[in-house]
Amino acid sequence: MDSIWMDGPQAAASCLRGRRDADVVVVGGGITGLATAWRLAGAGMQVVVLEARDPGAGNTSRSTGNLYSTVSTGLAALLDKWQPEDVRLAIEARRRAIDWIGSVAQALGLDCDFRRVP
Ligand SMILES: Cc1cc2nc3c(=O)[nH]c(=O)nc-3n(C[C@H](O)[C@H](O)[C@H](O)COP(=O)(O)OP(=O)(O)OC[C@H]3O[C@@H](n4cnc5c(N)ncnc54)[C@H](O)[C@@H]3O)c2cc1C
Repeated sequence: MDSIWMDGPQAAASCLRGRRDADVVVVGGGITGLATAWRLAGAGMQVVVLEARDPGAGNTSRSTGNLYSTVSTGLAALLDKWQPEDVRLAIEARRRAIDWIGSVAQALGLDCDFRRVP
């Protein structure tokens, strides 16, 4: 399967010319920057995203699109390095992020194949 970031329709991005006012400038148009910009714009802010290449051209284009609360190295690896409460907070944040992605997909009616699996 091809990555939509590499082979899909590219976002209409143009070179920034002249002066532009913004409440927030987001540097980096990967999934982190774009999601941040989208949420800030939804909160009524004027947002400019600065992307050195194409949107999603970094790690985002390589993601296999799996979402999971834990991490690929497993919980034991985290507990080796961090306090249990910190690990709990990290896992909780990841779980909430998945819930948010699911709610956005549903609210916008996105045909993105979001589904929960065992
Ligand atoms: C092979 C692979 C598979 C993966 N699979 C998964 C998965 O299944 N599930 C999952 O959740 N995660 C997965 N990941 C991880 C996931 O892809 C990354 O965590 C995520 O894409 C990071 O997004 P990002 O926006 O933070 O970074 P990036 O996507 O790297 O975006 C950063 C952007 O900033 C731009 N930039 C950098 N410096 C500047 C600058 N000075 N000025 C302007 N622009 C700049 C870059 O050009 C880039 O577009 C995978 C990663 C890889 C490599």
